[in-house]
Amino acid sequence: MATNESSTLRTPRRLLFGDLWTYAPAPESRDIVRLQPRYGHFIDGAFTEGGETMQTINPATEEVLAEVAVGTSEDVDRAVKAARRALDGPWGRMSGAERGKFLYRIARLIQEHARELAVLESLDGGKPIRESRDIDIPLAAAHFFYYAGWADKLGYAVPGAQVGPVGVAGQIIPWNFPLLMAAWKLAPALACGNTLVLKPAENTPLTAMRLAELILEADLPPGVVNIVNGAGATGSALVEHPGVNKIAFTGSTAVGRHIQRAIAGSGKKLTLELGGKGANIIFEDAPIDQAVEGIVAGIFFNQGHVCCAGSRLLVQESIHDEVMEKLRWRMQSLRVGDPLDKNTDVGAINSREQLERIQTLVASGVEAGGQLYQCPGDLPEKGFFFRPSVFTGLAQSARVAQEEIFGPVLTVLTFRTPEEAIERANNTPYGLSAGVWSDKGSRLFMVAGAMRAGVVWGNTFNRFDPTSPFGGYKESGFGREGGRHGLLPYLEVR
Ligand code: NAD
Repeated sequence: MATNESSTLRTPRRLLFGDLWTYAPAPESRDIVRLQPRYGHFIDGAFTEGGETMQTINPATEEVLAEVAVGTSEDVDRAVKAARRALDGPWGRMSGAERGKFLYRIARLIQEHARELAVLESLDGGKPIRESRDIDIPLAAAHFFYYAGWADKLGYAVPGAQVGPVGVAGQIIPWNFPLLMAAWKLAPALACGNTLVLKPAENTPLTAMRLAELILEADLPPGVVNIVNGAGATGSALVEHPGVNKIAFTGSTAVGRHIQRAIAGSGKKLTLELGGKGANIIFEDAPIDQAVEGIVAGIFFNQGHVCCAGSRLLVQESIHDEVMEKLRWRMQSLRVGDPLDKNTDVGAINSREQLERIQTLVASGVEAGGQLYQCPGDLPEKGFFFRPSVFTGLAQSARVAQEEIFGPVLTVLTFRTPEEAIERANNTPYGLSAGVWSDKGSRLFMVAGAMRAGVVWGNTFNRFDPTSPFGGYKESGFGREGGRHGLLPYLEVR
């Protein structure tokens, strides 16, 4: 039996099952999405034209989806002033219970438009529709629902203290979870009574602009939420605007550092959610089949464009060969391709620049002597795609094992003892996430407690919930989003 099993494992899945595992295309229709040829900004409760534009494209086809305005410092100034007026107006005087109603309304509108938002997210960002439909959009709604419940209970967030809003918050988000990151930023800030200026990522502005329409439909007073499109210079203008009281930034460590320097001494509050190089640690007593699913979910979810991805796999030496064989076998069933196809597991890389960055880091791993295994099968001819990949035989010091790759590329390292696993897992400048797999609860808790990482998953990976705080240590940033902790950066405590 054991012999049969292992010879079955060594047989490529395609040869084993033939056509049984080939699926007919099952594309989600994009008719539900009505794209405008051009998007401006959303300032003071109205859509503005904006001047100069940039293009947002579908990374799976390279088709231009729309022209999008590039916000100038004047646009940012108008948005910040509108936010200040809203803070001094009815919004600032509104009770928490009334504010909560607006959040509930936005949450319900996201749910009502879930299918449309999912298609739009996959079109603009390249992520599989299965993920935008089942993860991004439901979680975005869940964040609004969750924080709606806090709006009239803020006194319990910091017991014994008087709390109020910080003021005008400038919020800057990346392209990997566009609507979800917007929800992580907007929902807690609104629950606490702040007003906002959000800057979406230049590659993925479309769901934020649709959210602006839903916010208008929810009758949120003008100026409470403003959205200014643009790239780094627009973000920089927002960071440096003297009328902003707080900056919340999610993005790369390099830009995070730059922002920290830019606002030093200004008195602005700051939270930074930055990059990561998460370790996924598999002990020999772990449930191996589940762990293999966890490895796949840890690194291939959202093409690996995940700050908390489990991009470093640490496997106990005694089970290395078994885990690798099962992982390679599992990878053969991953379908890479059209993000709108409901059978797709791995969609498009978000941009040409990101694809080139992944290719460069993978080339450095090959040059350093690593053995590279990649998913078999054809890739689409157009668009930006990269095969799910695994490196073995690399030293921990290799560039690809150290730097955040932000793509579907896993590096495998081994360890012998729990102490060695902990030492290797923490040996990174980052500290965002980790996963631990073991049959023993005591070992899970011991190793989790020793991780210098903001989020540690036990026998699972990449699970998110609005009630659970998320954030980093070291070069992964500071401050928490989600849960009660996620309210604190948006509250002035007296
Ligand atoms: P990025 O830092 O290049 O851009 C992020 C955002 O910052 C974009 O909106 C961009 O326009 C803006 N920006 C760029 N330069 C700026 C400047 N000088 N001043 C102000 N704003 C500026 O990052 P990215 O490539 O869009 O996103 C990927 C990074 O985000 C990865 O490193 C990833 O780990 C990180 N990320 C972290 C989390 C987290 O919660 N820790 C979540 C998602 C993504």
